Amino acid sequence: MADSYDYDLFTIGAGSGGTRASRIAATLGAKVAVAEEHRVGGTCVIRGCVPKKMLVYGAHFAEDLEDCAKFGWSIGEKRFDWARLRDNVLADVDRLNRAYTETLENNGVTIINERAVLTGPHEIALPSGRRVTARHILIATGARPHVPDCPGAELGITSNEAFHLDAIPRRVLIAGGGYIANEFAGIFNEFGSKVTIMTRGDQMLRSYDEALRDRLLHISMLKGIDFRFHAEFKGIERAGDALRVSMTSHEPIEVDCVMFATGRVPNTEGLGLEAAGVELGEKGEIKVDRFSRTNVEHIYAVGDVTDRVQLTPVAIREGQAFAETVFGNAPSAVDHTCIPAAVFSHPPLAGVGLTEKAARQKLGAVKVYQSDFRPMKNVLAGRNERALYKMVCDEADKIVGIHMIGPDAPEIMQAAAVAVKAGLSKRDFDATCAIHPTMAEELVLLR
Ligand code: NDP
Repeated sequence: MADSYDYDLFTIGAGSGGTRASRIAATLGAKVAVAEEHRVGGTCVIRGCVPKKMLVYGAHFAEDLEDCAKFGWSIGEKRFDWARLRDNVLADVDRLNRAYTETLENNGVTIINERAVLTGPHEIALPSGRRVTARHILIATGARPHVPDCPGAELGITSNEAFHLDAIPRRVLIAGGGYIANEFAGIFNEFGSKVTIMTRGDQMLRSYDEALRDRLLHISMLKGIDFRFHAEFKGIERAGDALRVSMTSHEPIEVDCVMFATGRVPNTEGLGLEAAGVELGEKGEIKVDRFSRTNVEHIYAVGDVTDRVQLTPVAIREGQAFAETVFGNAPSAVDHTCIPAAVFSHPPLAGVGLTEKAARQKLGAVKVYQSDFRPMKNVLAGRNERALYKMVCDEADKIVGIHMIGPDAPEIMQAAAVAVKAGLSKRDFDATCAIHPTMAEELVLLR
């Protein structure tokens, strides 16, 4: 396709969105190059969802090993070797990085391991001194952790560094009350750290249903995690080998590690977006229309850099839709409604659609069905952790939201979300026979 341009498509960023877009564009006949300054795979594969989930699995063994005695097992001395888990996880990240690289190459995409900067509407400069031109440009540079502006902030780490720690900190303070804070609180706590979460407000995981959030808070506290609400950093300083953290509303605390998990900011600085005339929003995000097109006709953006929904499967869909729209002559826009999501905390929680509060605000009267139960495995294990499933329906019993906390909630939610997306009703669930004994059967037995 490329004629007067070097490439039909030049993608900046080989994360989830950029990789999918580049691969599909190439299979549709485009001449494609993708520039990546770090590692092919992006946040999800290299320093996010994938290695995090492996740590979650690793952490869960702590409870399984505790519970196994009630199931007849006796084991010898338990010992956790962080370095072994870390290195195994990082080795698998290397494998995935190679797999992503090969997939792009096998589809004829040129990978440029450099930081690319736009120098004009169609021109890109590379640190090697090369300049290339492209008919279409896709920005898929993702986002990075936000670090609060406070004295001593440089002494803290973010989730990026958490995967590479030399040792599990004895005491860790996690700032933020969102996805990353709750997931890593569970991980560190199971590995034996004394975990404290500090958050600026009085709520965690604001987009999730209140009843689930309360349940997670309650269980997390039972597991020994401390919470400090209404806490904002005053400063972090060294105190011998430890760190001393001062904050509003609370006494200072001494810890061995401070981890910031206070949201993520779009990576738009230093990309030459001004030179190309690309418009940014208030948070520095690239503004796009429903086809992921910026205000510049041939420049598009997908994934976290657009700050629509910061989730990998969404970025992948946006990348796919972009390629089909531009190179497949099949305009497609991603539907950003009714997206299921999960927090891999201990226990995990998951949700799709409207929370009870949002449904009441939007629809007025709603019907709520729920099951509050102790999973069979927890009963025998003597683990006093209850699961909670909630179904929120409109007055005609059409489901507008499902929310779950409990073992395997994200796995169960993936299937339940199909029903919500398809517009099914409580009656459809009631008409479906239970699989007994499972936790998921509670979904078709809700009262
Ligand atoms: P979240 O948006 O989930 O949570 C951010 C937290 O930080 C909130 O508690 C927020 O408080 C607080 N916060 C935000 N800004 C500041 C600030 N300036 N000072 C102090 N506190 C602040 O962000 P995460 O960093 O946990 O994760 C980033 C994104 O990555 C998530 O939104 C999610 O989209 C994605 N992600 C998804 C995962 C999954 O699917 N399982 C796992 C990990 C990340 P407040 O509530 O008051 O605003």
